[in-house]
Amino acid sequence: MTTSESNQPGGGATVDVTILGAGPAGLAAAYYAGHRHASVRIIESLEEVGGQLIALYPEKYMSDVAGFPNVLAHELAASLAEQGLQFQPELRLAEEAISMEAVELDGEELFRLGTTTGNTYLSRSLIVTTGHGAFAPRKLPLDGIDEWEGRGLLYAVREKAELAGKRCVIVGGGDSAFDWMLELAASSESPIVLVHRRDRFRALESSQAKARALVDEGKARIMTPCEVREIHGADRIEAVTIEDTSSGERERVPCDALITLLGFSSHLGAIALWGLERSGRRQLQVDPATMRCSEPRIYAAGDVAGYEGKITLITISLAEAAIAANNAIAEIRHEKAQPEYSTE
Ligand SMILES: Cc1cc2nc3c(=O)[nH]c(=O)nc-3n(C[C@H](O)[C@H](O)[C@H](O)COP(=O)(O)OP(=O)(O)OC[C@H]3O[C@@H](n4cnc5c(N)ncnc54)[C@H](O)[C@@H]3O)c2cc1C
Repeated sequence: MTTSESNQPGGGATVDVTILGAGPAGLAAAYYAGHRHASVRIIESLEEVGGQLIALYPEKYMSDVAGFPNVLAHELAASLAEQGLQFQPELRLAEEAISMEAVELDGEELFRLGTTTGNTYLSRSLIVTTGHGAFAPRKLPLDGIDEWEGRGLLYAVREKAELAGKRCVIVGGGDSAFDWMLELAASSESPIVLVHRRDRFRALESSQAKARALVDEGKARIMTPCEVREIHGADRIEAVTIEDTSSGERERVPCDALITLLGFSSHLGAIALWGLERSGRRQLQVDPATMRCSEPRIYAAGDVAGYEGKITLITISLAEAAIAANNAIAEIRHEKAQPEYSTE
């Protein structure tokens, strides 16, 4: 099912489906499309597959993914990759899709995608699974904050081992701040300090209860309503000044690792300019029955796909990917979308 476009710099054959983004949704879409004997190309801007599971929280345990009572994010990503890549899709890593145009070649309606490496690719259909798209961490509003990156300031924990023996200060009041406080306190010699600007937290009540138990055991300290005002150190961070915003009192707290988990600001990036209907600032509007976007042969799944009542969870992304892949292939083959079991 492949043809070649001449004068296509760095590109390849025309494929049935091009998947943009190799997070959980993209990998699941690759599985379903491969299972349907479609030719598949995946374009991923990072150097590895796995999406947020690898980029943001590889060592976090998850217990809400169907079929996995408790699984480390990077292990789940490895399983998704093994399953998703089994039909050998063409995998283009470290290339970000930045342009898209509809073209007609030899009487066939195709999409031509351009990437940051200058390559162009032809495809009969697209499945957009770009998740949060180009995302950037929200930073503490301190002058010169960027200078501490790589010197003790972290926006995500990539490897728990890198924090062994370190005095950690976590800033944030959501699930990731609490998840990491609980995870690190289990093996840390010094109490993990959690700083939050409000007295109330957004984290799960069960996590908050576990954190309070750690405070009682002397393994953690929760400072609220507090904010980090200064970072001290020479080559690396050595301490931070934390202010109690209700009293104005300041305390210098020893710190080797300042982990700020304040969320990410994200946007659709170049995809916002492709003329597709949007759902808010960060999502493409889809019909949840088919996961089709506002244009024919373009589908979306996972965090980037928006519709009323959308919940951004991995389990949901996987189901949406199956719907998107089945419908994309049915549309280019002019068939009715039908489920097909993986084995007889
Ligand atoms: C801290 C944290 C904890 C979480 N914990 C859980 C949990 O416990 N359970 C749960 O179900 N969910 C959890 N989630 C949510 C879950 O990670 C997401 O719902 C899931 O990753 C969405 O998958 P996705 O494939 O849609 O997107 P992503 O995982 O974001 O993958 C998208 C991929 O697309 C790539 N990309 C983006 N733009 C382009 C482009 N233009 N060209 C090429 N590639 C591109 C990105 O590099 C990325 O690899 C958590 C999220 C966070 C941030």
